[in-house]
Amino acid sequence: MPTASPDHRPSSTPSGRPRPFPGSGLAKGLAVTLRTMTKKTVTAQYPDVQPELPPRTRGVIGLFEENCTVCMLCARECPDWCIYIDSHKETVPPAAPGGRERSRNVLDRFAIDFSLCMYCGICIEVCPSTRCSGRPSSSTRRPTSTS
Ligand code: SF4
Ligand code: SF4
Repeated sequence: MPTASPDHRPSSTPSGRPRPFPGSGLAKGLAVTLRTMTKKTVTAQYPDVQPELPPRTRGVIGLFEENCTVCMLCARECPDWCIYIDSHKETVPPAAPGGRERSRNVLDRFAIDFSLCMYCGICIEVCPSTRCSGRPSSSTRRPTSTS
């Protein structure tokens, strides 16, 4: 049973713990602030300062659109079926006079549902467009996209 103090407030909290000295919370907070101010900062000025990533970091999947041939391999091999590709065919005029017209696939939309993606990297491994490949970083890894 909490006993009443001279200012008519109970000397303990409803949970039974002794009521803290007035202002002790403020003093504790200021102590934490002072302690933190004298420590070295742990935040990094990203993206101006790139973080040192572990060598096997997968990063976020990115696409170099100009290198994508719309072969659909990544979409077919994705175990989660979370890559969506739309494309259309375009006719390319012959390179030399008398040559044949060619058709090529043009990428319209490349999207990954990142709520399903498990970052397994299979889409990156199967992508035949080696020029798509880049170095791992915190923002982009290799062939596939985030649009
Ligand atoms: S990393 Fe994501 S998008 Fe690529 S194959 Fe794996 S689950 Fe699919
Ligand atoms: S990202 Fe690579 S695997 Fe996927 S459609 Fe483009 S070229 Fe093919």
